[in-house]
Amino acid sequence: MQDQEKSRDQLIAELNEIRIQVSNLEASLAASSAQSSSEKDEKIRNLKTIVAQGEQRFRLLFENSLDAVVITDTKGKILECNGSFLKLLGYSTKEELAQKRIAEIFCDPEDGPKMRRELESKGFAENFEIKLWAKDGHCLDTVHAISVFKDSNGATIGYQGILHDISSKKRTEQELEEALKSTAAETEKLRSMIEGMEEGIVLADTSGLITEANSWFLKRASLDRDQLLGKHIWNFHTDVEILTKLKCLFSEYGEKKRTKPLTMNREMFGLHVCLRVQPIFVNGAFQGIILNVVDITDQVIARLAAECANEAKSQFLANMSHEIRTPMNGIIGMTELALGTELTSEQKEYLDSVKISAEALLSLINDILDFSKMEAGKFELITTDFSLRDCVDNTMSTMAVQAHSKKLELAYDIVPDIPDNLSGDPGRLRQILVNLVGNSIKFTAKGEVVVRVATEMEGHDFIELHFSVSDTGIGIHEDKLASIFRAFEQVDGSTTREFGGSGLGLAISSQLVEMMNGRIWVESEIGHGSIFHFIARFGFPVQPALRVIPRGRVTLDGVRVLVVDDNATNRRILEETLRSWGMLPTSVAESTVAIDTIISANNRGAPFSLALLDFMMPEMNGFELAEAISCHKGSNLEKIVMLTSGGQRGDAAKCRELGIAAYLMKPIKQSDLLDAILMTLQKTPDSDLPPSLITRHSVREARKRLDILVAEDNVVNQKLAVKILEKMGHVVTVASNGKVALDILETGTFQIVLMDVQMPEMDGFDATRAIRDKEKITGEHIPIVAMTAHAMIGDKEKCLNAGMDGYISKPISSKELEKVIYTVLNSVETPTLRLKGS
Ligand code: ADP
Repeated sequence: MQDQEKSRDQLIAELNEIRIQVSNLEASLAASSAQSSSEKDEKIRNLKTIVAQGEQRFRLLFENSLDAVVITDTKGKILECNGSFLKLLGYSTKEELAQKRIAEIFCDPEDGPKMRRELESKGFAENFEIKLWAKDGHCLDTVHAISVFKDSNGATIGYQGILHDISSKKRTEQELEEALKSTAAETEKLRSMIEGMEEGIVLADTSGLITEANSWFLKRASLDRDQLLGKHIWNFHTDVEILTKLKCLFSEYGEKKRTKPLTMNREMFGLHVCLRVQPIFVNGAFQGIILNVVDITDQVIARLAAECANEAKSQFLANMSHEIRTPMNGIIGMTELALGTELTSEQKEYLDSVKISAEALLSLINDILDFSKMEAGKFELITTDFSLRDCVDNTMSTMAVQAHSKKLELAYDIVPDIPDNLSGDPGRLRQILVNLVGNSIKFTAKGEVVVRVATEMEGHDFIELHFSVSDTGIGIHEDKLASIFRAFEQVDGSTTREFGGSGLGLAISSQLVEMMNGRIWVESEIGHGSIFHFIARFGFPVQPALRVIPRGRVTLDGVRVLVVDDNATNRRILEETLRSWGMLPTSVAESTVAIDTIISANNRGAPFSLALLDFMMPEMNGFELAEAISCHKGSNLEKIVMLTSGGQRGDAAKCRELGIAAYLMKPIKQSDLLDAILMTLQKTPDSDLPPSLITRHSVREARKRLDILVAEDNVVNQKLAVKILEKMGHVVTVASNGKVALDILETGTFQIVLMDVQMPEMDGFDATRAIRDKEKITGEHIPIVAMTAHAMIGDKEKCLNAGMDGYISKPISSKELEKVIYTVLNSVETPTLRLKGS
C-alpha cells in the first residue's frame, strides 16, 4: 500500500515534469519560426513521445489509484473508470459499464440534477454524497470529489469523479444516531415518569452529585432544578444520622461491600418519610443511586392513632378487669368468710348458692375479659412446668360434680407413655378442657362424656398432644360445625333456647389452641353426640420443679404481716383470713403510710415478716411500692406477695426484677393464698438460681408434691428410691423395716407408702396387714405400693391380697414408679373417675 502511494506521488511528480517539458517545447516551437521543417518534425516527434509517455504515466496513475475514479462526457456517459471503481461496484470488466450513463447507477434519481447544479454554480463538487447501485443490487454510500474537464476555449467536455466507499462509516453514524435518539427518548420517558410521581425521586452519580430530581422533591425542598443539580445529595439532610449513613453507603456501594437497597423512616421537610436508597449497577459497576422519598405521614398518624386507641383499649380492659374483679372478690371472699361461721342450714344453703352464682358470674366475666384481651391482641400465654395428669385430673374432678348431678359417666384416659412433666400454660389448657367438657355435659342428657389424650407427634424438645372430648349428647347440625367456633355463634341463638351460654367459650378455646400451635375441630352426628378434637403443642421442663410446700412444718402462728390495699372490703377479708391462720395482720389503705408502718414496726423491734400488696392502688401502684420498700433503708422487708386483679404483659419479669416472691390473681382462694404464703416464708434453698416466682399455678403444682414413706432395708435400694422420688419433686422418709414404718406412720402424714416385701423383723405383707387393720378403726386408706425383687407368678396377687394397692418389680425405673404412683393415687383418691387404659 505504501509502495503504491509512493509510486503515485512519483507519477504525479513525473507528470508535472512532463507538463513542464511539453509547455517548454510548445514555447520553443512557437518561438522558432526560423527552424527547418526537419527540425520541427523532430521536435514534434519529441513532443509526441513526451505526450505518449505522459499518457502512459497518467494511465498508470489512473489505474493504480486507490481512489475509485470515473470519467464521463457532458451527458454523463461513462467514458472511463479505473479498477478501484469496478471493484467498488462489484464489476469485473470495464465493458460491463461501457455505454452506461452514470445516472443509471445513482440510487436516488434526485442526485443527478443536484450534482449538475452544484457543478454549474461552483465548477466542482466536493464531499458530494451519492448512493450508488452496486452490480449485485445493493446500495453503496459514496462520497465524491467531482471536477470538470474543459477544452482550451473553456467549454466543458466532461467530468471526473473520484469517490470513496463510506458505507460502513454511514452505518456507524446511523446506528449512533438511532442510539442517541432512543437514549433521548428513554431519558425523556424516564423524566416524565419521575416527574409525575407522587413521591420524591433524586438521582445521584457515584460521587453523590445530584443528576436529576423530580418536582415533588424540588417543591418540598423549596429549590429550583438548577439550584439542586450538581450539588451533593447529603447537603439536604440536617439529620446527622442520615448524612453519615448516606456517605457511608456511597463508599460501600462503590467498593461493592454492599449491593442491596437501604430503607429508613425519618422526618424530612416536616413530613414523616420513608427514604429508600437504591443503588444502580450496570454490568456490575456502581453507577450511582436513586433516592425515593415517600410521604408516610398519613400512615404514621394512623398507626399512632391506632396505638393510642389500642393503648386506651388495654387501659380500659385493665381498669374494667380491676373494677369488676374487686367487688367480685368482695362477694366471694365475704361469702367464704360467712360460710366459715355458725350458720343455720337454710343460711348455709343460701350462701352456697351465692358462692356458686358468684363463681359462675366470675367465669363469665373472665370469658368476656379474655375475649376482649384477645381482640385487642393483648393476650399472652404463660409458660410454666406442670404435670399433665394433675392438670387433667384436677379439671375432671371439678367437672365431676356437674356430671354426677346429671347422672352422666365422666371418664378420662391419658395414654400411659405420654410424659407427665410438660412445659406450657396449664391454666389455659384447663380452661379449654373446662369449656369442652362443660359443653358436653350441658348438651348431653344421658350417657357419658370421655376425655382422651394421645400423642400426635413428638420432637426432641416438644410434644403435640391430641385431646378429644366425646359425648353422647344432642349433636350438632352439619352446617354449624364450623361456625360454632366463631364468637357469639350458637346452634340455637333464639331467646327461647333451652341451653344457656354466651357463645364465647369455643371462640376463646379455638384462639387458645391456636396460641398453643394447634388446631380445633369437631365431628358430630345429630342425636348421637359430638367429638371435639384439639391438638396443642407443649415443651419439656428444663429442670424438674423441686419446691415442696412444707405444710405443717412452717408455723404461721404469730407471724407479722402487712396488708396494703385501698379497698376496705379486701382489707377486711385478708385480715380475717390471715388472723384465722394465727398470723398478726396490720392493714393500711395507702402506700405512703405503708413505708412508715414498716419502719416503725422495725423500730419497735416487731418487724413484719411479710407484706401483701395490692397492685392497683391510687398514687403508687404495687410495683412502685415494692420498689420504694426495697430502696428504703431500714425497711428491711424481704418477702412480698403481690395481689393483682388483672395481669399485664411483663409483670412476671418485673416481679423477678423487684425480688417479689409471689404474684397471685384475685379473687384468690383461701387455700391458694395459704400455700403461697407458706411457700414464700419457706427458707430459700441454697442455690445459685434465683427462687422462682410463686403463682397460682406453681402453688397448685407444688401441692401435688407428695410425702412418701419408703420401707426398704437395703441401703443401696433406699438411696436409689430416694433419688428417683426426690427427682420427681417428692419428699421422702425412709424406714428400714416394716416395724419402723408402722412407728413412723403413727406420727407423720404421708400420701403413699412404697413397701419392700422382704425385710427383717417385719416384712411388707405383715406391715401392710397391720396398717389395714388400724385403718378399719380410722376409716382412712393410705395407698401402699409393693416393691419386690421376686417377679414371680402369683406375687402380685399375694401383695394385693395383703391389702396393697399396686405393685412394682425391682429394679425400679423412674417411669414405672411414676406411673404406678399416679395410677394408685388416682384410683384411691378420686373414686368418681374411671381411669381407662392403665
Ligand atoms: P356457649 O356454650 O356458651 O353457648 P360455646 O362457644 O361454648 O358457647 O358453644 C357454642 C355453641 O356450640 C353452643 O351454644 C352449642 O350450640 C354448640 N355446642 C358446643 N358444644 C356442643 C356439644 N358438645 N354438643 C352440642 N352442641 C354443642
